[in-house]
Amino acid sequence: MSSLLREAERCIANQNSYTALNALISTLHSSGQWLDRIKEADTRRAQGRPESRLDGRLVVIKDNICTRELPTTCASRALDKFTSPFNATVVQQLEDAGAVVSGKANLDEFGMGSHSVNSHFGPVKNMYRSRNAEDLSAGGSSGGSAVAVATEQCYTALGTDTGGSVRLPAAYTGIVGFKPSYGLISRWGVVAYANSLDTVGIFGREVSSVRDVFDILNQHDPRDPTNLSPDTRSRIGDQFTSPPLASRMTTNPLKIGVPLEYNISELAPSVRRAWSRSLNHMLQQGHSIHPVSLPTTQLALSAYYVLAPAEASSNLAKYDGVRYGNSFGGDHYDPQMNSYLYARTRGEGLGSEVKRRILLGAFSLSAGAIDNYFIQAQRIRRLVQRDFNATFLANHPLMPRRLNGDDVNYKSSQAQVDIMICPTAPSSPPALSSLVGEGANRSPLDAYMNDVFTVPASLAGLPAASVPVTDESTDSLAGVQIIGQYGDDALVLKVAEMLSNKRL
Ligand code: GLN
Repeated sequence: MSSLLREAERCIANQNSYTALNALISTLHSSGQWLDRIKEADTRRAQGRPESRLDGRLVVIKDNICTRELPTTCASRALDKFTSPFNATVVQQLEDAGAVVSGKANLDEFGMGSHSVNSHFGPVKNMYRSRNAEDLSAGGSSGGSAVAVATEQCYTALGTDTGGSVRLPAAYTGIVGFKPSYGLISRWGVVAYANSLDTVGIFGREVSSVRDVFDILNQHDPRDPTNLSPDTRSRIGDQFTSPPLASRMTTNPLKIGVPLEYNISELAPSVRRAWSRSLNHMLQQGHSIHPVSLPTTQLALSAYYVLAPAEASSNLAKYDGVRYGNSFGGDHYDPQMNSYLYARTRGEGLGSEVKRRILLGAFSLSAGAIDNYFIQAQRIRRLVQRDFNATFLANHPLMPRRLNGDDVNYKSSQAQVDIMICPTAPSSPPALSSLVGEGANRSPLDAYMNDVFTVPASLAGLPAASVPVTDESTDSLAGVQIIGQYGDDALVLKVAEMLSNKRL
């Protein structure tokens, strides 16, 4: 049996044996189609002309990304009977590269959540358990994709990261999660949560598999108006890849920034240890460490939870049971009372967290509140971007260099750095019983708090990765986050490679 076929059979066996983790909503393996595709890939490999390094490998797609062969539910009752007539661009790109989409992953409904518990299909369980055998959160909202990768139900998986939904589950499940710069990967066919923040992210057990996928997806797509044009891409390429990264790093050791605002008192000791050991490791490799300040970080979380729900409330308005989504109007439908249909469809179709976001968003966009909430949050977003620009050595390639005839200087007087290293999440995964069910004692606000370290990079559109680092002395695992300047995705992945899966 070929190694590809063996790998695929192992993945399918794992999909069958890990069903209790609830990582996948639907799978292709029951149809047996995957087998033919892998045999074709095998033939291509034998002839020395594989489509790519993903040719013949099983991938899993978060269930808010459209696939033609499997339903796309967004883990919502409003959509649970829906199959897209087309593939999202990212899915098509993977299939063109020979990858076989073998399942759709469970998530927080429409991507809203931090623990993958807000799902119409029930919560995702982490494969790790606590010392007293309690089930743990897999992180969210792409928890199903993360667990599928961590338990080898697939080679790699796609998630979406609006405010941390790829990085947080990666940290909780001990794998690599990468959110590229905003606008590099197509969002066409990705169900929108908050357009100005949404990115497609990639999970892998190794950085190399994440890079394989990124190389395939990092292309212009004219169907996504926020996707960077070929011109802009080559400008960014000129800035960051000449001279090539490897020579840049051998002649110039990296300057690594340690954002002081991330050193909060609530940081779990295991996370703090993983962070400081990672920094030590980089120091031993000859790189230098510099404290930096990102003062607006403290406001970023509040700004995010105004902006993301505002965009969500407008995006989700279309699920009215007429043009989009399931209708729960049933026999009660009365054309004279169209609003009744609307209220009932949304009341029954959408889960409580989604409704909370819609209410929050509609409020912050309302005439009386927009100045104090939405507009203020946009201002904070600009300040967060400014903080990062003041701190990175490289200029933001999309920011104007000259304004009204004058040069613009974004730099501050503090040390400037190539890259930043900080924690992904403040703590290790909480027990599921504290999040759902009768014993649940955590408020929605507690879940929002988990995103405190991931949302700043999202607001600024920056590339960021979470990698698993094990503290050798206690054997505890934590996610360490690497954040780079806009467009410097290759450097983020390079540093991720230097730290990922290390025992330090
Ligand atoms: N937890 C964040 C939220 O609920 C992030 C979600 C995401 O990145 N999709 O909005």
